[in-house]
Amino acid sequence: MFESLKNLLKHFTGSQESESTASAASNPQPQSNSQAMNANTPRYYTLSEFNLGVGTIGPTNRTDIDSQTVNDMYQAIAAGTFNIPVNGAVPEICVDGRTDKDGNRKHAPCAAGGTLSIVYGGDLGGASTASDTTETQLTVRIINMLKAKGHATGVHGDDHSNCGCGACAKAKTIYQHITEHINDIASLVSKYGINLTDNEKEAIVQQAKNRINQADFFADDRSSILQAAQDNGSVFEELVGVHNELGIALNTKPGTTIDRSAIRAKYGPQYDIFVVDAWSFGTAANDVNPTGAEQDANRIAKAITLQNVATASVLGHGSLSIIPIA
Ligand SMILES: [Zn+2]
Repeated sequence: MFESLKNLLKHFTGSQESESTASAASNPQPQSNSQAMNANTPRYYTLSEFNLGVGTIGPTNRTDIDSQTVNDMYQAIAAGTFNIPVNGAVPEICVDGRTDKDGNRKHAPCAAGGTLSIVYGGDLGGASTASDTTETQLTVRIINMLKAKGHATGVHGDDHSNCGCGACAKAKTIYQHITEHINDIASLVSKYGINLTDNEKEAIVQQAKNRINQADFFADDRSSILQAAQDNGSVFEELVGVHNELGIALNTKPGTTIDRSAIRAKYGPQYDIFVVDAWSFGTAANDVNPTGAEQDANRIAKAITLQNVATASVLGHGSLSIIPIA
């Protein structure tokens, strides 16, 4: 599935008319402004084009940025300028564009909520078992399962919130968002080569509804989930400051993530990006798949993808662009 994503991304990011799509992606034409886009300029979808993006984080709500600089940043990100190697093979840190007080992040694969993306995506995709009767139990079991397979796990907070990770703080809202916007989200991911069958959509929506309707599944104290993860060995990052993300990097280069510190160093401290290391979702799905059947692993990988899009849509504004890196 993710090989096809990668191939499709190569076509998507380049010129619509020529065969030189890969070189168009790696050598994008300069873009003077959004009104002067030409056929050779990569065009990026925004969340609003899919009726998504009900949150506030995004370029439209900013007065401290320069649109030409944002365009330059998008194109440099798409060209792979900021890709750096990671050690891990499954999502471990959050898509959050912020850094710790020293301006750093772990060099690890990113998904919405870090390891919690595998927890929620796994749950939605059918990886949960009868023993997972609460969010806490589910979280603890998945983290220990990943640890047993040799993976590092991680969560984060920030310096001013009880639960500073939006993917965790708003987990129930994100499940709800999936039930209400499944077709919008499926339409978005189809642009990147990920196609959901009606059965897959139905199963994921049904599981989301089951959890929403299951009394006491979601913990009332959202920080207790971050604590349960840490108590079971997850590394904790404390991020600082406000959300300045201007887009969503959709990275399909295996073994890499996007260097947030390098982006700030080049464009300024207010230029941040959400980072989705989609290449790592397939391995995560295989590692939490209870049946070993390929169709189950595929559905889990797709559910992890949906959880990432839904999180971006709940936290982010419709003006957020999606920047594929193939
Ligand atoms: Zn987070």
